[in-house]
Amino acid sequence: IPTLGNPSVVNGEVLVYQDPTAAIPDRVSDLVSRMSLNEKIGQMTQVDRRYLNSDQDIATYYLGSLLSGGGSAPTPNTPEAWADMYDQYQSIALSSNLGIPLIYGIDAVHGHNNVYGATIFPHNIGLGATRNPALLKQIGEATAKEVAGTGIDWTFAPALSVARNERWGRTYESFGEDPEIASSYATIIEGLQGTNLNDPATILATAKHWVGDGGTTGGDDQGDTQISEQELRDIHIAPYLNAINSGVGSIMISYSSWNGEKLHGHDYLINDVLKGELGFDGFIVSDWAAIDQLPGDYASDVRDSINAGIDMIMVPDNYVNFINTLRTEVNEGRIAMTRIDDAVERILTKKFELGLFESPYTDRTYTATVGSQAHRDIARDAVRQSLVLLKNEGNILPLSKNLNKVFVAGKNADNIGYQSGGWSISWQGSGGDITPGTTILEGIQNAVSPSTTVTYNERGIGIKSDYDVAIVVIGEKPYAEGNGDKPGNFGLERTDLAVLDKMKRAGVPIVVILVSGRPLIVTDQLADWNAFVEAWLPGTEGGGVADVLFGDYNFTGTLPMSWPRTGDQIPINIGDSQYDPLFPYGYGLTFP
Ligand code: BGC
Repeated sequence: IPTLGNPSVVNGEVLVYQDPTAAIPDRVSDLVSRMSLNEKIGQMTQVDRRYLNSDQDIATYYLGSLLSGGGSAPTPNTPEAWADMYDQYQSIALSSNLGIPLIYGIDAVHGHNNVYGATIFPHNIGLGATRNPALLKQIGEATAKEVAGTGIDWTFAPALSVARNERWGRTYESFGEDPEIASSYATIIEGLQGTNLNDPATILATAKHWVGDGGTTGGDDQGDTQISEQELRDIHIAPYLNAINSGVGSIMISYSSWNGEKLHGHDYLINDVLKGELGFDGFIVSDWAAIDQLPGDYASDVRDSINAGIDMIMVPDNYVNFINTLRTEVNEGRIAMTRIDDAVERILTKKFELGLFESPYTDRTYTATVGSQAHRDIARDAVRQSLVLLKNEGNILPLSKNLNKVFVAGKNADNIGYQSGGWSISWQGSGGDITPGTTILEGIQNAVSPSTTVTYNERGIGIKSDYDVAIVVIGEKPYAEGNGDKPGNFGLERTDLAVLDKMKRAGVPIVVILVSGRPLIVTDQLADWNAFVEAWLPGTEGGGVADVLFGDYNFTGTLPMSWPRTGDQIPINIGDSQYDPLFPYGYGLTFP
């Protein structure tokens, strides 16, 4: 059995695939030439670690990849424990016949958001508001270090989804409604992957979800994108061009359909457009159990998705069935061996480029960067830049740090979970102290002078007319994917309206901070507010909000989405023939 990092010598020769000085294409073809069909199929199989019948199955079935999916609790609770877990799985993979290392993937979609104590950056919609590609590169670099510090090699990010309908529950995973933003943000891929994947501070990125995921009719998650090919190309394919130019290592296929045909079986869009025309040479991964949704029985699901060009299947549970089915399809000639070899070569190429054959275990140099002050500083800067000032009557902002009495209210004021949104520690996210960070309230308390009294009551109880200002922090509660689809009323929650009403009756100036993954309808309330700030989903560094409210920094953010006036206007997008939003795409004030 060859030992990794310790090239085997056979008949006086080092095996080419184990020779770090050999060219990667040569290593890949040498390795593929030594692999059995079972070993090849294993490379194409990705299993959520929770569904392993036994850890030893990694070697028994030659599994090529594991993941921690969005809902992967219970998870280890320290970075070191994540790294230990990773190393343990990796050691089993290395014990198999050819000793091929695993590639381990996770949804680090706004920082290493599954790991307790990690830095959580604003969700993509807030980053879209910054219009700052250089910031995105910094975020990519910081995220890569935190992920690498836990052993993990690969993130299922960035989403290049162009959200065209606010009703879509994944709107906040999008950088905005216009492809220009996502196109300019290929810099996050450069940050994540670095200039050399072999650098232990870098990880593999995934552009997702190919393609048209943000354009479904009605904003239905996993729905049908009913548009012409020209519109698909102009709006949804467009951001992938820069991503591919930047060398993105993998692309994930969308659950959605294009004009009734599921992307997971879309030979034209995957083989012809993505791999052919656009020349994507990384590997393509399916979404979670997504092939199961294709028409026909499981054998045809496996056949159609792989023949359409998908290289790795996120099974993610019943892998024995997947493996047996795929083997039968190949043995009976319904999937060509050349297709299997192409898939395996693409996957192995990335593993070699990542340096996994030479350094399969966690580089603990980066473990201490998880949640480090340096990374939190970047996140706080991102929060400041993501804020969009939508109203500032009489220039009430910036607030003086020497006010006498400040009242803070609203359910989103003192809640790390709410300000982080979905994909934060758990898949759907939740309220409360889910991980260390600074709430928006704490940021306000830290910003004001010692002589200022800050009174906080979530429901606004105790407000009186002698307060200088009421800062009301309201908005959405966490959700992810289809659970966030929002048909019907698009207004504020009743509890938020009740708090606003108390402030109004007290007659104090009102500054509203909206914590939400998308615009909400505020048309009827806006007149009561002296100032209105959209904060999106800022993540753990909520102190960035106070930095701007109290004037240490000015506002620079601008809307990455058009802000609808009424629910009936949704979907509303720049370029619509009838365009009468409350605030247009690109809007954002500054103070003098
Ligand atoms: C989501 C993907 C995600 C995957 C793994 C799916 O439900 O659509 O975006 O990467 O789960 O967690």
